Amino acid sequence: MTRQREAVMQAVLESPRHMTADEIFEAARARLPGISRATVYRNLGLMERDGQVRRVRTADAPDRFDKTLSPHEHIRCPRCGEFQDVRLGDLRALLEARLGRPVGSYELNVSALCDVCMRAGEREEQTHG
Ligand SMILES: [Zn+2]
Ligand SMILES: [Zn+2]
Repeated sequence: MTRQREAVMQAVLESPRHMTADEIFEAARARLPGISRATVYRNLGLMERDGQVRRVRTADAPDRFDKTLSPHEHIRCPRCGEFQDVRLGDLRALLEARLGRPVGSYELNVSALCDVCMRAGEREEQTHG
């Protein structure tokens, strides 16, 4: 593994979040000053191809990168845009069982407040009576 790829991988592994490519670039640059944005993007593409990270696509926001590779779905917070994991079992297997044929791809868009925004909302309600 190249030093660049190592730095990108570590950046992804050390964050508890689903980071955007730009955020990964910032984190990788902190470990390996001089690494370019293009190098980070290219390595993310290679890591996705090699199954080391999962790319989470969204229609109206930058893609996120996920180090958790076991089957799970994502919930997006409408307030801060953060992603949370939710485990619903293997949805692909469920879909394939229902349809009786292989499923190429599927998308599930769920919007719900994250824990932080949920708590912030509760605090606001208390202050405003
Ligand atoms: Zn939130
Ligand atoms: Zn995830």
